[in-house]
Amino acid sequence: MTQEFSDATKVIKTTTKPDPATGALNPPIQLSSTFAQPDLDHFGKYDYTRSGNPTRDVLEDSIAALEHGTRGFAFATGMAAISTAFLTLHQGDHVIVTNDVYGGTFRLVTQLLPNYGIDYTFVDCNDPEALKAAFTPKTKVVYIETPANPTLKVTDIKQVVRITHEHDALVFADNTFMTPIFQKPLDLGVDLVLHSGTKFLAGHSDILAGLIVTKTKELGDAVYFIQNAMGATLGISDCWLLLRGIKTLGVRVKAEAESALELAKWFQEQAIVEGVNYPGLTDFEGHDIQFSQATSGGAVLSFDIGSEDNVRKLVKELKIPVFSVSLGAVETILSYPPKMSHAELSADERHERGISDGLLRLSVGVEDVDDLKADFKQAFEKIEAANLVR
Ligand SMILES: *Cc1c(COP(=O)(O)O)cnc(C)c1O
Repeated sequence: MTQEFSDATKVIKTTTKPDPATGALNPPIQLSSTFAQPDLDHFGKYDYTRSGNPTRDVLEDSIAALEHGTRGFAFATGMAAISTAFLTLHQGDHVIVTNDVYGGTFRLVTQLLPNYGIDYTFVDCNDPEALKAAFTPKTKVVYIETPANPTLKVTDIKQVVRITHEHDALVFADNTFMTPIFQKPLDLGVDLVLHSGTKFLAGHSDILAGLIVTKTKELGDAVYFIQNAMGATLGISDCWLLLRGIKTLGVRVKAEAESALELAKWFQEQAIVEGVNYPGLTDFEGHDIQFSQATSGGAVLSFDIGSEDNVRKLVKELKIPVFSVSLGAVETILSYPPKMSHAELSADERHERGISDGLLRLSVGVEDVDDLKADFKQAFEKIEAANLVR
């Protein structure tokens, strides 16, 4: 697959396929559940859309090419992709999952997989001794996510791969935060990559989607069987919208990451800000590992303004960021993990993971960075003035 091109070219070349019959640049939205067969003895490439569809094929080939994998798969949501990946396991198997995993993945691993006899251990996957100690003879998969949400803690992918492969298990990596533009886990030895396509890949806060890319043909065959058997495939119109999103993925995430770095540095200088988490900052703990395995700090950062009271005021005063869950969109999205993504944790559990009461997560969009700075500046000034009066 067009691996000789760089990603900036590939996002266009893999999503644009002129139709030999009409010259149409974009793959048609093939809204057909079934495909007519020539006769009893000759069956075409496609028979039924759950098993395969030409529009979905273009999307699956595109993400496979971008992630340097053998095969890509599109699902209805990120969680459908993650569920499918875990269904490659069998009763009696054990998985090791990184501590700072996405909340939906935590719920799946702790509340659903045990019903099917799949056991789990949570561990800090960046601590080699703790990771080694977590293996059992039944461990089949180590599941990581880096940088983690919302602390942006970086995990050393190559180290996890080395330890895991020594134990004859596979590494699955959720690459939603970095996208293949900044980080290619399969090149670092990971066996299966996951995406919530809902975030950066779609990029416009419109559709839900999930993707898997496998390194080997064998794992690809196993995932294909489950995709077809379980049936949580991505709708064909949404495949087309995701292809549309991927065309601008490169320019969007680069612009967003540039603004994120500028904002992270600026936040560090503000009196009200007690701490900034962003892998692009040279004094951030995981910075060196980040830049040994990725080409950017990404477009997501988090910062602490001291108290829930200050957060409440900030949300009221800001004019540009949307206050909501989710991330990876053209709009700058501000979220408050203690009451949103991490509301299910107790206060103690949150604090243990570095999620303090004043912590906000910011997914930087494509707005003008000076406008964003000015907006935060006026809001911080209002909070400081209000706090003085009191
Ligand atoms: C949003 C998200 C998911 C889940 O994806 P959905 O499309 O919402 O199902 C998984 N992992 C990460 C890192 C996410 O941000």
